[in-house]
Amino acid sequence: MTRPYNFSAGPAALPESVLLRAREELLDWNGGGTSVMEISHRSKAFVELAAQSERDLRALMDIPDNYRVLFLQGGATQHFAQIPMNFARPDQTADYIVCGAWGEKAMREATPNVQARVAGSSVNANFTGVPPRQSWQLDPAAAYVHITPNETIHGVAMHTIPDVGDVPLIADISSNILSAPLDVSRFGLLYAGAQKNIGASGLVLMIVNDDLLERCPSTLPRIFNYAEHAANGSMLNTPNTFGWYLASLVFQWIAAQGGVAELGQRNQAKTQLLYQCIDESGLYSNPVDRDARSLMNVVFTLADPALELMFLQQSQDAGLLALKGHKALGGMRASLYNAMPLEGVQALVGFMREFERRHG
Ligand code: PMP
Repeated sequence: MTRPYNFSAGPAALPESVLLRAREELLDWNGGGTSVMEISHRSKAFVELAAQSERDLRALMDIPDNYRVLFLQGGATQHFAQIPMNFARPDQTADYIVCGAWGEKAMREATPNVQARVAGSSVNANFTGVPPRQSWQLDPAAAYVHITPNETIHGVAMHTIPDVGDVPLIADISSNILSAPLDVSRFGLLYAGAQKNIGASGLVLMIVNDDLLERCPSTLPRIFNYAEHAANGSMLNTPNTFGWYLASLVFQWIAAQGGVAELGQRNQAKTQLLYQCIDESGLYSNPVDRDARSLMNVVFTLADPALELMFLQQSQDAGLLALKGHKALGGMRASLYNAMPLEGVQALVGFMREFERRHG
């Protein structure tokens, strides 16, 4: 069976070998006669899976020893609100750099728990780039600086980690985690929903510096307190065990591909091919500044919007799924996460060129 290429922004395509292995192990995982979903999270077998997955992630991302790795729930959106509960006081300020819809939402959700302020924004450029670092108005007394290095809807990426002085840098890496090497030691906190580069929705990964964890107020309900989750190995309550299992398979898959550096190179090659096709065409265009183009989410519009429906229908018929852009932006979006092979991008580019030849 040949499967279509799935360009969904998330929940997104998983590596086929991971899906096949999950299917194979569904009725009998680890020789125990049950699926991994049907056993206690406190069983020896699951605790071993959890520990191994953390070791694998630490190796893949080269996570320093003074960082904890948490496997949480709630989606990134819940943590937009929970991060200031843990790392700021309601009377403190926090600086947000906003380059798209997710940074904006992160700020909005944080607001009841901290005085969230825009310290830099590209809203006036319709989020087609990253505001230059010199234009940011950072407050040295802020509780933290929050960035969204990859804006999934606007297809905008911050390709260099900004220097923000001594204030902890917090990044929502939901749509670029594990897509290229990243220097974890530059951050106080990294967090990501799993449903793009890792696996199933409902699981959130958090990589947090020990010093920052000391800020978590003991007055918080335990279930909202990250230090409590860390002290309990992310098993304060029942975690998303199936999501955690899928993540562990994806980590093994990434290692087998040659690791994050190798995937980073493949992702460069994939997006280059698609941006080149767009730039050479008279029909397609991408509005994002060249130095801020995303490696994960490629947005493009058609010169004649009346062709959009036909483009979507014909691409779907050609086995190229989910190319419709986010409703907030319109147009098209091709998400090229780690699981998208180069062949999928080649097929998309071939289709786009042929569509332009016939209708452009
Ligand atoms: N941040 C980013 C960068 C995202 O792309 C998304 C989801 N597309 C979210 C946050 C929100 O994730 P969730 O729906 O899991 O809360």
